[in-house]
Amino acid sequence: MTQPTHTHRESGGKYAELQQYQGTGPLEGQWLVAYEDLILSIQSVTTQEDWLENWREIAPDDCTVCMGTGTDHIKGNAKMPCGHCYGLGKVMDNGARPTEMWDVAGIAALIIERQQAELYQLRKLADNDTVQAIIEQQRQQVVNDSTARNEQAWRDGQGHGPGGQRYTGD
Ligand SMILES: [Zn+2]
Repeated sequence: MTQPTHTHRESGGKYAELQQYQGTGPLEGQWLVAYEDLILSIQSVTTQEDWLENWREIAPDDCTVCMGTGTDHIKGNAKMPCGHCYGLGKVMDNGARPTEMWDVAGIAALIIERQQAELYQLRKLADNDTVQAIIEQQRQQVVNDSTARNEQAWRDGQGHGPGGQRYTGD
C-alpha cells in the first residue's frame, strides 16, 4: 500500500502526493498537484496553492491513526479522543505509540515546548513597533468605516425630509 505523505489540516485523513506539474491550456502558469486519497482510493488534482494551504506533510511523530487530529476517526466520533495517541495527535519520536503514563507525559511536554517556542516568536513579532502601527492603522480604519456606514444608513433611512429621505441640510 502507498504510504501517506500528507494529511488534511482540518479533516485529517491519509493522502499521498503523487506528482507536481505545470498546467497547460487555461491552467497555463499554474502549478498543479496530483494526489491520492488513500482511504477512498480516489486520485484528484488541485492547485499547488490549495494543496499547501489545506494539506500538511505528515511528521514522523504524527499519530498514524488519527493523523495528528487527536480525535477518534475510527468510530467516527470527533468528540472522542483517539485511542492510539490518547488524543495528543502525536506519538513518540520513533513513531511508537505511548504505552505508559510517562510516555504520554513526555509527548505532551514536547508539544507544549514547541507551542511555547512558537508563541514566543509570535509575541516578539506582535511587539514590533511596525506591526503595532499597522494594527492601530487597521483598527482606526475599521472605526472610520463603520462610522461612515452608520451615517450613510442614517441618511438613507426613512425621514421626514423631501423624498422621504432625512433632511440633513447639506
Ligand atoms: Zn491519534
